Amino acid sequence: MKKCAKCGIEQELNTSNFPKKSTGKDGFDAQCKACKKERDQKRYQEKREEILNQKKEYYAKKRNGASVINKT
Ligand SMILES: [Zn+2]
Repeated sequence: MKKCAKCGIEQELNTSNFPKKSTGKDGFDAQCKACKKERDQKRYQEKREEILNQKKEYYAKKRNGASVINKT
C-alpha cells in the first residue's frame, strides 16, 4: 500500500493506481494517478493560456507595426 502525497488516500501500489517514476524511491510517483491527471490537466490548461496570450501579444504587436522593421 502507498499513501498519495496529495490526496492522502492509501492505495495498492501498482501501475493502475500510481504512475511509474524512475526517480521515485520506490519507482512510483508520490501522487496517485487521479492526482497526477488533475495536475497534468491544470498544467496543460495553463500552458494553453500562455500560448494564447503570446499569440494575442504577437498579433497586437503586428497591428502596431512593430514587426514591420526590416533588417538590411
Ligand atoms: Zn491522490
